[in-house]
Amino acid sequence: MSNIVIQLSGKELEKVKTYYLENKVDRNAPGLIFSAKLPDVVISIYRSGKIMFQGAGSEREASRWNMDVQGSTSSIRTTHLPENLSTSSVIGSDETGTGDFFGPMTVAACFVPHDKIALLKELGVKDSKNLTDTQMVDMSEHIKAACIYSVLILGNVKYNSLQQNGYNQGKMKAMMHNQVLKHVLRKIAPDKPDYILIDEFAKKDIYYRYIGKEPEIIRENVYFSTKAEGLHVAVAAASIIARVAFVEEMNRLSQSAGVTLPKGAGPKVDEIAAKLLLSKGKEFVSTITKSHFANTEKAWSLVKQKKRNT
Ligand code: MN
Repeated sequence: MSNIVIQLSGKELEKVKTYYLENKVDRNAPGLIFSAKLPDVVISIYRSGKIMFQGAGSEREASRWNMDVQGSTSSIRTTHLPENLSTSSVIGSDETGTGDFFGPMTVAACFVPHDKIALLKELGVKDSKNLTDTQMVDMSEHIKAACIYSVLILGNVKYNSLQQNGYNQGKMKAMMHNQVLKHVLRKIAPDKPDYILIDEFAKKDIYYRYIGKEPEIIRENVYFSTKAEGLHVAVAAASIIARVAFVEEMNRLSQSAGVTLPKGAGPKVDEIAAKLLLSKGKEFVSTITKSHFANTEKAWSLVKQKKRNT
């Protein structure tokens, strides 16, 4: 039986938890903070930051997170990428807001022709995780002025209704990536990129299975890689555009809520959600959150606690 252990940081652990939320199972073991079960693999997340994948599907699932593999019984290989990728004309795409209880999921694609790579690097364009929101707002304006791009914001009302209709996050992401890529290809036509690079959230075959039978599916010269922001500046640019769109939408939602909405899915989020349930009601909260997250339940238990204490 295949058994793989990887080590991730707290922020990334949250992503893994969110990803497997629908497959969550209740299990008690020392140090265990989360467990999920797929048909061919059991995923266990420990307080130490270690994640264990057990079962026939462990390599497939572990490779999604592409981290330092410890004690692996099988090797993990990333997809073969073109050698001249980083110096070519590329459309990159990336998403954000997937692990945040409040606010929308956003996806962006950006076309960076080879002769603009230097300019974007000069602007300091790199992985959005290494930039502050303020830095990115400025950078996003420069990127948008210099490059052709497309950005999609999936509002919470639509997100929740899709989720209730059986769409998982992977499927929503795949559909949105396909959309933004289509938009950018249309805008740059008859010009074409050498390659399209998607920051990988699902393996290629799963990505296309998620898209299903859309009338127009972008397949030509498409490559997938984790940490793709580091492989071509177009993905970094897309990640910045997506992030800024997310932050702007969060600011707008914060105004309508009358409180600064926290990012992520931690205890602060539960606290604010509980306050909003009391002041604005359940209906309102569902319009600004991803309702299926565990935060909904946690916020309700805080509400009950508060009521008991008054
Ligand atoms: Mn990404």
